[in-house]
Amino acid sequence: MTNTEPKNYVAPTSLLKDKVILVTGAGDGIGRCAAKSFAACGATVILLGRTVTKLEQVYDEITESGDTEPVIVPLCLEKASEEDYLHMAEAIEEQFGQLDGLLHNAGLLGQKTSIANYQAATWQQVMQVNVNAAFLLTKSVLPLMKASSDASILFTSSGVGRHGRAFWGAYAVSKFATEGLAQVLSHELEEISNIRVNCINPGATRTNMRAEAYPAENPASLKTPEQIMPAYLYLMGPDSIGVNGQSFDAQ
Ligand code: NDP
Repeated sequence: MTNTEPKNYVAPTSLLKDKVILVTGAGDGIGRCAAKSFAACGATVILLGRTVTKLEQVYDEITESGDTEPVIVPLCLEKASEEDYLHMAEAIEEQFGQLDGLLHNAGLLGQKTSIANYQAATWQQVMQVNVNAAFLLTKSVLPLMKASSDASILFTSSGVGRHGRAFWGAYAVSKFATEGLAQVLSHELEEISNIRVNCINPGATRTNMRAEAYPAENPASLKTPEQIMPAYLYLMGPDSIGVNGQSFDAQ
């Protein structure tokens, strides 16, 4: 079911107080903005990404705002093994003893070309980052999240993850898989945990990925990451308790 209501949500500044939330791809674009927004609402944010200099910049911006000090987890989602994720989960448990939120945001666009011309290596790369890494990461932190009294897992989808379109290749297929993963997981956890699992489609947003996908577009015509944060905050915070297995539009 698609629901557009959360785009109008107004988050109280203490929405995520005492929450520990992991954001993938936290160094740029929507993930960077989500990490800063979660921190501004009181969360301790775990900044996961592959480019440490970008993560350090987000770290500095959060601490300079006076928000709770975040932590940086440098990890390449294309290369990380199952063991790497398990070590990361152990480290989170040791340092914080809890994990209440997980935003799967990191993503790769891959090629904009036909299936007939798509490079196999790029296909694997996109599926690894967009789908397989999300599976491995989720699996590794599930025991920790099950211990939370109110936890939220949010997967990032796309319009092409609901309706296939020519030349969107592995990216579109990976977003269909993301919607599927979220649905399967939401059903599995519904009766046995306090974890809700949903998908969010950011819609056209002013980021590097969007510019790569639509080079001729005027970025000024697009919503900024800041403008789409209400839905992210709603789905991460306790006002969405009981909302499970749904796919939302952030715009
Ligand atoms: P950006 O390209 O701006 O940011 C993507 C982030 O993912 C970057 O921080 C990037 O790291 C990180 N990332 C990519 N590969 C890896 C990897 N191997 N390991 C770790 N991190 C990685 O994209 P957006 O902010 O636009 O996209 C965020 C999400 O929203 C994606 O899932 C995307 O598919 C989705 N989306 C975006 C839309 C839009 O219009 N912008 C529309 C629909 C969906 P680094 O900075 O180091 O490259």
